[in-house]
Amino acid sequence: MDERTYDIAIIGGGPAGLTAALYAGRSKVRAVILEGKAPGGQLLNTELIEDYPGFKSITGGDLAVTMTEQATHFGADLVIAQVNRIRVDEDGMKVIETDEGEYRAPAVIVTAGGNPRKLDVPGEEEFAGRGVSYCAVCDGAFFQGEHLAVVGGGDAAIEEGLFLTRYASKVSIIHRREEFRAQPILLQEAREHPKIEFVLNTVVDSIEGDGRVTHMKLRSVEDGSVRDFTVGGVFIFIGFIPNTQLVDSHVDHDPGGYYVTNPMTMETSIPGIFAAGDVRSQLTRQVTTAVGDATTATIAASKWVEEWEKSHSTVRAEKGLEVLEHAAEEGGWVA
Ligand code: NAP
Repeated sequence: MDERTYDIAIIGGGPAGLTAALYAGRSKVRAVILEGKAPGGQLLNTELIEDYPGFKSITGGDLAVTMTEQATHFGADLVIAQVNRIRVDEDGMKVIETDEGEYRAPAVIVTAGGNPRKLDVPGEEEFAGRGVSYCAVCDGAFFQGEHLAVVGGGDAAIEEGLFLTRYASKVSIIHRREEFRAQPILLQEAREHPKIEFVLNTVVDSIEGDGRVTHMKLRSVEDGSVRDFTVGGVFIFIGFIPNTQLVDSHVDHDPGGYYVTNPMTMETSIPGIFAAGDVRSQLTRQVTTAVGDATTATIAASKWVEEWEKSHSTVRAEKGLEVLEHAAEEGGWVA
């Protein structure tokens, strides 16, 4: 094996990727994590984490550092390189094309996560983690007794808005039209909830504050009027974009673009390509579920590599025999 050929290549260094590296390293499987930026993934955008077992409260940055140290301690290589494409060769070997050249491995675990769709308004980036959030389960508890805004009109916005009523004094769901994509049953629950109000036909022009979010500028799409709207936090749920465009062949996915995986193994529809974390079609996307997926995926991928090696050494042995037989016939001697 050359230094760029591994048993398992892990795409992405968030909690799922780091867990995959930890399990691969401890099983003495040669693994590389290919990460485009710093390891940690979405942990790096999360202020405090209070729902990861073992840590009553830890900053996202600290958890990222701890996970990275533990992952590499057991021998996985961490390479900072942007993955551009994953090719599947005829013999099943996967070739990972990166900015730093190619890496090869029979098994790949895609843990590339994804990104919440952004509103792209002034203040959104500036106040991310300081009043602007994309995860109610992660951050809701930090907004006890506050008036919160939720932006969006799909299942996520309504479901997360309902969740936020546990902490908020009031939740205003701001949606750009009157019809909703969300399921009627969720909508009905929200409409009947005493803490929820709907602000319809309204878009966000900007998010403003002083160190933390204090208000937003909202614009009516009906008459163009703009008003200040006082809030303690803004939760944005206008869709999520999974990073599932890297593999150059078709991989089965759900309508949202998330990979459909075998629940026993986390394998996708392509043999030897596994998925864990936010790229996978599933009920929820938490750090805890990402590390669970990755554990299963790595154990399954390690077994898959063993089988792949066996079948390929048989193929290689048969090929070698064929060459010998051919040479024997040509040379007039019997092998
Ligand atoms: P979604 O269904 O695509 O809804 C996105 C919402 O955001 C829409 O209301 C859309 O408005 C709005 N939006 C998009 N871009 C916007 C912008 N720039 N400014 C303002 N509003 C914008 O996304 P989702 O709610 O994240 O759900 C994604 C998928 O996961 C869906 O298939 C959903 O059913 C599923 N999901 C299911 C559950 C559940 O079953 N319990 C929970 C969460 C998610 P328009 O309608 O005007 O386009």
